[in-house]
Amino acid sequence: MNIYLARARGFCMGVERSISMAEDARQKIDGEITILNEIVHNNSVVADLESKGIGRTTNLNEIGRGTLIISAHGVAPRVIETARDRGLDVIDSTCPLVTVLHKAADYFIKRGYTVLVYGDPNHDEMQGVKGRNPEKIIVLKEISSLDDLPDIEGKVALISQSTQSMELFDKAAELVSRKYDEVKIKNTICDATRKRQSSILELAPEVDTVIVVGSQTSANSKRLAQISKELGTPSYLIDHAEEIQPEWLKGIENLGITAGASTPGWLIADVLEKVRAVALTIGITDIRVFDGKNDK
Ligand code: SF4
Repeated sequence: MNIYLARARGFCMGVERSISMAEDARQKIDGEITILNEIVHNNSVVADLESKGIGRTTNLNEIGRGTLIISAHGVAPRVIETARDRGLDVIDSTCPLVTVLHKAADYFIKRGYTVLVYGDPNHDEMQGVKGRNPEKIIVLKEISSLDDLPDIEGKVALISQSTQSMELFDKAAELVSRKYDEVKIKNTICDATRKRQSSILELAPEVDTVIVVGSQTSANSKRLAQISKELGTPSYLIDHAEEIQPEWLKGIENLGITAGASTPGWLIADVLEKVRAVALTIGITDIRVFDGKNDK
């Protein structure tokens, strides 16, 4: 069996930055430190920070004192203002590429546009963007036809969740351009997402099955599994190595492995080791690994 590791996989710059800001804070600060929401959407990373004494909550009102860390996904400005008003120290680890979305939304609103954001309204990142100006920002989960778009008077701008599918965004941009008279499109899908999606677009057609390492909460990991399936390649999204089933490897000549931007390298290494072990149990002894070389 040949195992191909996707060229771009695992931790991105923004995720590494947020985690290292949280770990640095723990080393330097004696008091309570609490992360609002999940620092990044990976269960192992979240558990690791909790084991190091960094708390977590989804409710700002539960934090009575100490330091608040804003996750990589960012928050609405009023969340930071409220935290500071309540005497909390704030460390903002919002990914700079999420800040690009914030700035784009602010830029268009200032110039009189209604801003459509193509993303998941329930995702932390989208709540942070929408919270900048709830009256002028509309988050749209689906744009598959003109009927999915609201009626809007005046100028319209379209931006995207940083981890959106490149293909879907292009389709959405086409529909938005057809529906409204004055339209500006700014693709705010981040570079890490583009690279991981390009890698799986190359890899999935070349292999029999794809394993995506990432949590169900990770939008970009789910997207990688979805792209692979859409290309006709069965794919499994797994949080950790213990989920690997022998049936997945039976009769497989070429296996692809990739991982979302919030998945640490050690989890990918665990999965690779487990794949080898499981393959041996079903009589696959000739295993070769090809590393597409990590491209951040
Ligand atoms: S996936 Fe993109 S936007 Fe999200 S943390 Fe990584 S670099 Fe930043």
